[in-house]
Amino acid sequence: MKYLDEYRDADLARRLLKEIQQVQRRPWVLMEVCGGQTHSIVKYGVDDLLPRDIELVHGPGCPVCVTPLELIDKAHAIAARRDVIFCSFGDMLRVPGSECDLLTVKSRGADVRVVYSPLDCLKLARKHPEKQVVFFAIGFETTAPANAMLVWRAKQEGIRNVSVLVSHVLVPPAIEAILDSPWNRVQGFLGPGHVCAIMGYREYEEISARYKVPIVITGFEPVDLLEGVLMTIRQLEEGQARVENQYVRAVTREGNQAAQELVAKVFEVGERKWRGVGPIPNSGYRLREEFSGFDAERRFDVAAIDTQEPSVCISGEVLRGVRKPHDCPAFGNDCTPEHPLGATMVSSEGACAAYYLYGRRQKTTVGG
Ligand code: SF4
Repeated sequence: MKYLDEYRDADLARRLLKEIQQVQRRPWVLMEVCGGQTHSIVKYGVDDLLPRDIELVHGPGCPVCVTPLELIDKAHAIAARRDVIFCSFGDMLRVPGSECDLLTVKSRGADVRVVYSPLDCLKLARKHPEKQVVFFAIGFETTAPANAMLVWRAKQEGIRNVSVLVSHVLVPPAIEAILDSPWNRVQGFLGPGHVCAIMGYREYEEISARYKVPIVITGFEPVDLLEGVLMTIRQLEEGQARVENQYVRAVTREGNQAAQELVAKVFEVGERKWRGVGPIPNSGYRLREEFSGFDAERRFDVAAIDTQEPSVCISGEVLRGVRKPHDCPAFGNDCTPEHPLGATMVSSEGACAAYYLYGRRQKTTVGG
């Protein structure tokens, strides 16, 4: 398949590995930002192929993982109402809240539906004017344009029985929080390819210059990831720190400006809480005041719901690249994908789940 097969080519991967071995002189710690990259790295064993002293640590870029537990509980409280059709992408249905998951809420009689586009909610709202249609709008910058379009069109078309439960987070403030941490070990980043397809990479240039850290916007296939590592290591060995774009088939410096404009009309930047990490200033989107009538948290008055994470869970440190899943005493015992305790086990893009699913249940690999 074009744009996939050639990026899984074994000969090309071998050539890139050889080049990495030739370029690398010193030990380096790199972070892949996206959960999709983590998933590919663990699935294809990319980290095991690298020289022993290039360590990949796993970043915070799994949107399901970082959705706060209390927001999931709020989703359940709203979904359980008899006047609500609660819509979500399929990946949120099995994510447990404090008591159960959305599938269980559905099995108790709630009208919970999987949609393939946020705009499907408009059709449902028109078809069921007696119901409130709520969309669970989670994700990074990548999913924000489609969610913004739902709210924008609902307002334009005067559809009042639609609202969104928003948990949008932004990558650049998370990278800054990692770099500001006194425990930071990360010396270079494989930047988030999908996010930059929408946002471009101008905002990463300022971060790279300020923290003197290389950021290479990278794709998701094994050859992408190896080339991203090579480009990052080359900069580090040469004492460089700039933004480069490995993922040229999808990303431009400016990104998708029409999508950015729509997002800016509907959302504004504000503080967001990240599951496992806590609040990060200016790290998420919330609806602008003129669209606040479409905010499900206001419409259904669920603001008082609060929760606590299990004390054993170290997913905050895993998400910041400070520790690995094996460092957690609950990994693979009390905490599994079937019974996740914390953020990085709830989605296959979370580092703990990826380690579990691809057989990394024991600490046998270097850097893994
Ligand atoms: S294994 Fe589970 S409890 Fe441990 S850090 Fe990962 S998500 Fe948290």
